[in-house]
Amino acid sequence: MRFLAFLLAATLVLASAPAEAADDLRVHVLDCGQMNGMETEPFLPDVADRPERMDLPNRCFLVLHPQGTLLWDAGLPDSFKAHALSWYLWITSLGKARVELGERLVDQLAALGMEPADIDYLALSHSHFDHAGQAGDFRGSTWLVQKAERDWVFDPELDNDNIQVDLLEPLRDAKAIPLDGDHDVFGDGRVQILSAPGHTPGHQCLYLDLAETGPVVLSGDLYHSLLNRERRVPPSFNTDRDRTRQSMDRIEAIVAERGATLWIQHAPQSGPLAPALAR
Ligand SMILES: [Zn+2]
Repeated sequence: MRFLAFLLAATLVLASAPAEAADDLRVHVLDCGQMNGMETEPFLPDVADRPERMDLPNRCFLVLHPQGTLLWDAGLPDSFKAHALSWYLWITSLGKARVELGERLVDQLAALGMEPADIDYLALSHSHFDHAGQAGDFRGSTWLVQKAERDWVFDPELDNDNIQVDLLEPLRDAKAIPLDGDHDVFGDGRVQILSAPGHTPGHQCLYLDLAETGPVVLSGDLYHSLLNRERRVPPSFNTDRDRTRQSMDRIEAIVAERGATLWIQHAPQSGPLAPALAR
């Protein structure tokens, strides 16, 4: 019921442009594409009873705070929308999946009466292609990035074979606040970046003190599915699996301490989906 109420509220907010005039903390769930029929082996190694495939919807979040705006994650690259068939089989070391982007973030923002110049801060949970795809459209925003992540992306000496550096290239000269741990974005504790390394060197989660739903932690890719959380299993392709387990323990402690709900961004059963993904 709470879930339905949230969607309803989101729809009402959608109807009242311009969206940036927030008088309280509000969040829009945005459609950042989907990766369906993904082979689960790399995500759930050594889990004998895992399903063979899983669907991974991809969400981004527009955070409207009285002091400013934050975009959390930047979705799949535009190229997944441009294809003539609107989807195609994507074949990589992660296996085969149907990867599709519905509407670009800039178009979803325009529907809210906003443009990239209205986004004060850009923060990516991490630099993989499904979270950094449209980051270049927000190169005018201030990038909130862990120093370890930024170094990993741009230092040619470091092994970052499983990211597409070109997607992040437009941010190389962007105004940035390099972080080394947690960060209170607007200074009142209601929007906090939580350092959670392991999936990538500077992976991070986002805490939101929402009145509507109660406090929430957005997972990034700390977990990809409910099963990853239940079994405390990091994917095989994480940069540091032990560090991931430490981050899981830390984020779970914060979730428990603050009475928060964890929304697993790729898990369709966890937290509200963007209306386009819920259909
Ligand atoms: Zn992801």
